[in-house]
Parts: sequence; structure tokens; C-alpha cells
Amino acid sequence: MTQEEILSIDHKHIWHPYTSASRPVDNLVVKKANGVFLELEDGSQLMDGMSSWWSTIHGYNVPELNEAIQQQLENMAHVMFGGITHRPAAELTKKLLQVVPKGLEHVFYSDSGSVAVEVALKMALQYWHSKGQGDKNRFATVRNGYHGDTWHDMSVCDPVTGMHSIFNNRLTPQVFLPAPQSKFDGELIPEELEQVEQVLATQHHEIAAFILEPIVQGAGGMRFYHPDYLTSLHALCKQYDVLLIADEIATGFGRTGKLFACEHAGITPDIMCIGKALTGGYMSFAATLCSTDMANTISSGAPGVFMHGPTFMGNPLACATAIASLDLLLAKDWQKEIRVIEEHLKTTLTPLQDLDTVEDVRVLGAIGVVELKEAVDMKAIQDELTKRGLWLRPFGKLVYTMPPFVITQNELEKLTTAMSESIDAYSKKRL
Ligand SMILES: *Cc1c(COP(=O)(O)O)cnc(C)c1O
Repeated sequence: MTQEEILSIDHKHIWHPYTSASRPVDNLVVKKANGVFLELEDGSQLMDGMSSWWSTIHGYNVPELNEAIQQQLENMAHVMFGGITHRPAAELTKKLLQVVPKGLEHVFYSDSGSVAVEVALKMALQYWHSKGQGDKNRFATVRNGYHGDTWHDMSVCDPVTGMHSIFNNRLTPQVFLPAPQSKFDGELIPEELEQVEQVLATQHHEIAAFILEPIVQGAGGMRFYHPDYLTSLHALCKQYDVLLIADEIATGFGRTGKLFACEHAGITPDIMCIGKALTGGYMSFAATLCSTDMANTISSGAPGVFMHGPTFMGNPLACATAIASLDLLLAKDWQKEIRVIEEHLKTTLTPLQDLDTVEDVRVLGAIGVVELKEAVDMKAIQDELTKRGLWLRPFGKLVYTMPPFVITQNELEKLTTAMSESIDAYSKKRL
């Protein structure tokens, strides 16, 4: 098939994330990927500054991950999980439980982040149902959150920036608090937590759980908030008998400088969702973790079981890849890798603050965000970026990067130079 044929079929028949069928965009045709580079059908190369949406932390075409898949393939690609278990699931679980926040001991595997969040919400509801407190059936959350695209997930996403506004009046109304304003490296604003306390104090009898992304709000605005906010929220949830669900799908596996972002706040949530980088970006795979007490409570009431069971639950290929990805991460000094990226992003992106078009520049771990004053013209900015050999996927007012951890100093230099020059050139054309 020629590139033209690929694009023609793509235009006519294939949906992409948040796109129009009648006004299809000109997607890039990627042929293969290696290290931190995407190779296009026409032979040109782009450096990947996105880690394919937080996931490819080791880059592409990773020998260790390829090997793990090939080995597992010789045994089985898949087998149902009802009435059956297997070594990859047991080994992955053993490894995960050694690294997740202490107290999380029961794992539910599923096929995507959105499903992992649905599972978390259902766990919370079933927990209170088992305790005879079925009135606790709503969720509290903060604005600017993002938790996935499936039905109940949408109800806890930001009603405006969460991309689901047209469904708003069909969704279950949840309890929304303002997005945390206390900045990651600023001062904690105590009034914010007084507001949270007020809501929990008056509404805890109907709130099953508080769900939020720990420390980094991702797709809802790329915002970094103060660890003490999370620590205090955790304490308030305990005080008012509200479960805490931490959605670590974007932040998990080192991205923020800690293995899990909850560690910044020193907390163990009641329920935690992981996904994205779980398989090093090789496969769609996710998990929802909870404590043994929680799992036992869910199982003690009617119907006596947890009511969920995806066809591809615990997929052996995905488990084997996740094991290899975790081994690869833990075998190296990943903290140092992230620190080097963080320092470099801070040094090189902060000067963009001086541009008239730029509202804010912020960096945490291996995440660098340039927030513009106005929504970006996607085509214009992407033309500037690809012209300079860089693949980024801006949204709203945000031009941001979260490179694979394996990026070298030299590549990092090229990435930030291309990013800065693109924003500069874009800005000059705007003014
Ligand atoms: C991406 C994401 C999800 C949804 O995961 P999918 O695999 O896309 O379904 C949920 N929560 C957060 C925080 C995410 O970043």
C-alpha cells in the first residue's frame, strides 16, 4: 500500500482520538519507531517528545520488551482468566506489590485506563453496599481532572476541560471542588482544604469516594499541585469515611520523579489505578489495586463477588511485558535519569516565560509544560514542530513534552531547542 492509499483509507474510514469524520486531519504515517525516534513512511524521522501519551518510558523497539513478548508468545498469547490463572499474572502481581504504596494488596487487571477507573468506581460503590451504606453512591472530585472516556469516568472528568461537555446533562452529577491552586513548589493554601472539609462534612453520607490524579493533573490541564494538599485530603477522607481513589494512570512508573506520585505526599490511597506505562507502552493494559480489607469487605456482602470480568483480563502477553518493563526500570538509576531530564527542561524551557504569548512554564520530573495565553492553532504549531524534527501533540493552550526516560543528553538538547524555537516562531507569527 502506498502512503497515499493509507491516507485515503484513513481519511475515509478511520476515527482518530477526538477527530471529525467529515473534516479529517492529515495524520502522519508512522512506519516504525526506534529509541526516541518515529520513522515516517516517507523515510523522514521525528523525535518523540510525547512517549505516546505517557506510556513508552523506555522508548520504542526495546530489546528486553521484545524478548519478553517473544518468549511468552511461545507459551500462549492469551487465555481466559475465569477459572484459570498463570505464571505471568502471579509474577507481575508479586513485583507490583513490592513497589506500590504499602497496604495495596489486591489487584484487578483490565484492558485500559478508562476501564481501570470504572473498576475503581465500582469497587467503591460495592464496598459501601456491602457495609449496608448504599446511600454513599456519589463521587467527589476536583475540577481540571481527567479520568478516561467511558461513561461513568466522564462524570468525574472536568465538565469543561474534560472534553465531554456535550454529555454533561446525561451524566450522573458528581460533587465538584475547585482544582487545587496550591502550586507544587509554592505554599499550601489552607483555605482550599477548609473548603474540601466543608463539603465532606456536610455531604459525606452520600459520597462513596474522592477521586483525583495525585500531584499532576494531566489531560485536564497539565497542572502540578502541592503534595500537602494530597496529604491533607487523604486525612480528611479518613476522617469523614470517604474512600480515596488515586488515578496514577499517567503519573505511575517514575514520570514525576517518584515511582508513584502518591509518594510525594507519603500516602496510600484506598484504591489506585495504574495503566499507560505499565507495559512500557507496548500494550493496552491497566490495573486497579486496593487493600485486602477493602477486597474482603466487597466480597462479604451480597452478591459476594466483585462484579466485573473483562474478556482480556490478565492477558499473559501484557503481564509478561509489564514484568520486563518494571524490571528494566528498577534495574537502572531511574531517579537520576528523571532528575537530569527535569533539570534540563527547567533550564531550557523557563526562558520562554519572557515571550508575550506565554502565560506560564512549569516542569516536574520528566514533564515540561509551556502554557500559552491563548489556545494554540494546532496545525500552525505542529508545522513548526515537525519542521524542526520534533513530535509533540499540544492541546488547548498547552505545548508540553514528556519524553521517554531513555532520551540522551544530546537528544534532550535537540528536543528543547526545537520546542523553544517552534514556540518562538509560532509566537512571532501571532503577534
Ligand atoms: C489516560 C488516562 C486515563 C484513561 O486511560 P486510557 O488507557 O486512555 O483509557 C485515565 N486517567 C488518567 C489520569 C489518564 O491520564
